[in-house]
Amino acid sequence: MKDIEAIVQRFRDSGLKITPQRLSIFNLLKDNYDHPSAEDIYNKALEIHPTISFTTVYKTLQTLRDLGEILEINIDPERAHYDSVTDDHYHTFCTRCREIEDLMSGLYPVQELPDNNVVGGFDVQSVQVHLVGVCGSCN
Ligand SMILES: [Zn+2]
Ligand SMILES: [Zn+2]
Repeated sequence: MKDIEAIVQRFRDSGLKITPQRLSIFNLLKDNYDHPSAEDIYNKALEIHPTISFTTVYKTLQTLRDLGEILEINIDPERAHYDSVTDDHYHTFCTRCREIEDLMSGLYPVQELPDNNVVGGFDVQSVQVHLVGVCGSCN
């Protein structure tokens, strides 16, 4: 995720208004490494804007995702999670505590992409790898 100023500019360039609610959502996502769901962001946004709607939060997340500023992670069967780190990285999902974490070391089951990002004629735009199992604290 870029800095807030750059995101504000991108929203304006796309003809989208910058409201105090949207700015708060940007700030809640910035430097957030907890892979929050839309509900998590909504609950935090409510503390700042008691009248904010879930739809506002959800639509802002979708727009940020479409602009490539955040990643939508579809690993939890119950809900999507969002990641302000958009560089390719791998996630682990614990089936007991349902925590999503970045896999920082160890197994890298996918080879590095070639420099042109084309694999077998397929132009790769992003790589998401999910490892599902039981985390260290639950095990
Ligand atoms: Zn766990
Ligand atoms: Zn992540």
